Amino acid sequence: MSEFVAVGGCLCGAVRFGVKEKLAPVGFCHCSRCRRVSGTGSNAVLNIRRDRFEWLSGEDQVQVYATPAGWKSLFCRTCGCPVPHILSDGQRVLIPAGALDGDPDLAISGHIFVGSKARWEVIADGSPQFDAWPS
Ligand SMILES: [Zn+2]
Ligand SMILES: [Zn+2]
Repeated sequence: MSEFVAVGGCLCGAVRFGVKEKLAPVGFCHCSRCRRVSGTGSNAVLNIRRDRFEWLSGEDQVQVYATPAGWKSLFCRTCGCPVPHILSDGQRVLIPAGALDGDPDLAISGHIFVGSKARWEVIADGSPQFDAWPS
């Protein structure tokens, strides 16, 4: 396991993955779709290079839901937890921050789609905020 700087997985343990070399900062998306998928105010993800990511188990347990417009949510077919999402360009992976084992010391990159965030959510860190995509 020492080749990984962090490992993680879903609640039932079917899906497991590792991250090599270094962890990216965590970014938050406050859009209405990420609120639904996360069940809370925002989605917290690490955007890492594909070559730093490795499935350890359960890649075949990943269920994909796509909206008619093509926006995708990936989750474990048994426990429903969000799981890593290899982007369509094949170069980057979005990793749910809460899926990492333990409590890695992550930097915060910022917040996007703050313009559509829920009124009850308070952003308390000092990282950059963008109304939609970063300019
Ligand atoms: Zn699971
Ligand atoms: Zn979003």
